[in-house]
Amino acid sequence: MESLIKIENLSVVYDKGKASETKALSDINVEIYPQEYIIFFGPSGCGKSTLLYVIAAMERATTGKVVIHGNDISKMKEREITSYRQNTIGMVFQQYNLIPSLNVLENVAIPQTFKKIGKKERSPKAQALLDRFGIGAFSERLPTELSGGQQQRVSIARSLVNDTPLILADEPTGNLDSKSSQNVLDILQELNQKDKKTIILVTHDPNQLQYAHRVFHMKDGKVVRQTINTQLPQQMDAATREKLTRSLSGLSSAIIDILSVYPELTESRLKAKALVNYLMSELDTRQLDRLERLVEDRILGKISKNDFHAALDDPLEKGGAGLNYQSAKKIWESVESLLSETDVIQKNIDATRKDHAVNDAIVQEIYSQLSDVLTAQPSEEQAKRCKELIAKRISGTIDKTGFFAGLDLAFSHGGVGLRREVAEDITRRTEMLLIKFKDFTE
Ligand code: ADP
Repeated sequence: MESLIKIENLSVVYDKGKASETKALSDINVEIYPQEYIIFFGPSGCGKSTLLYVIAAMERATTGKVVIHGNDISKMKEREITSYRQNTIGMVFQQYNLIPSLNVLENVAIPQTFKKIGKKERSPKAQALLDRFGIGAFSERLPTELSGGQQQRVSIARSLVNDTPLILADEPTGNLDSKSSQNVLDILQELNQKDKKTIILVTHDPNQLQYAHRVFHMKDGKVVRQTINTQLPQQMDAATREKLTRSLSGLSSAIIDILSVYPELTESRLKAKALVNYLMSELDTRQLDRLERLVEDRILGKISKNDFHAALDDPLEKGGAGLNYQSAKKIWESVESLLSETDVIQKNIDATRKDHAVNDAIVQEIYSQLSDVLTAQPSEEQAKRCKELIAKRISGTIDKTGFFAGLDLAFSHGGVGLRREVAEDITRRTEMLLIKFKDFTE
């Protein structure tokens, strides 16, 4: 199968020769096939956007080849580059990049102007795209009069207006709330599946990896790992796929699944996790992860008992755990019964805490009633040890003899260090006071 994009030994160095020289990409080799959904994934600064901009011919390769449709764009002249951009590429940016002084319809129509498409033809096409994404009624408004999610839909409409086969999206959900993000991701998926567009998405969000046929994991300007999503039907023919699969690190689908949830794990940890998941559960990693989150929400009281039940049953795409009816019911019952037990335990803990508070008050009371017996003013440490003995006597940890021994024992040996007669007196009086407080201490 002929690749759409073939990048060979690409490197990009910014500010070459200056003190600020940055090697943004080094030795990148990437091949992308028509109608694939590809993700460049990695932490901020790893070179994802640079790679995307090289493909968009907005950034030049320092060394290496970038061949698209058989043409090496790193060798193209300005005029050829302009034509390449107009006929091959639609771009979507994190900041939408709409022109603030033009209305929504004009923004969408603009790429056609450069292609010298007649005015009459321009508007209906732009309007149809706005209608498709549910923002047709806003065509006369200025971009700033729209929400972020709506502006991003305008920018997607603009990327489609020239019917280019390749859509490049640079963190398109980076500025959006979760609902608008999901909407944008759904649109991109639809463009790939229904409109047969090749999509390249740049993201650092592991939750988005599930949408792509293949993911290029990047770090420090290099592609460090490439994974194939076995859950999606692949666009390439069997021979190409076979070739690609062989070139991968031989990760199983279970591991690739885990990778999408824990992209930072080393290969050995991934394997260990896959094995443990396999041994411990019938659920896949994504279900386990979702289940954990839902249970946590339930523990924190963020969702009700009923919502929790419904979410266990709901499919993953809807934010649920995707369990079948029986498993959802079983897990729901176990979690709810555990939670109500925890509730009982918590109440006991609270009650015990209250007991402690009562005991502390009684210790204090008994101690204060004894203070006139203590002939000399006890030191702070003596008072502390004395109170500890009273507390132990109340809880029954020591008996009357043990209590006396503690009072009598020399201070240097850990006792209170009272004179024998005083210790005897206090012991006697404490026993009497204990009878008085008996109702509270039992
Ligand atoms: P990412 O998209 O993964 O966040 P970028 O491709 O934007 O990463 O950046 C890769 C590296 O190149 C970073 O170190 C960044 O600071 C640097 N860089 C990006 N664009 C430029 C530029 N125009 N001039 C100089 N350095 C740049």
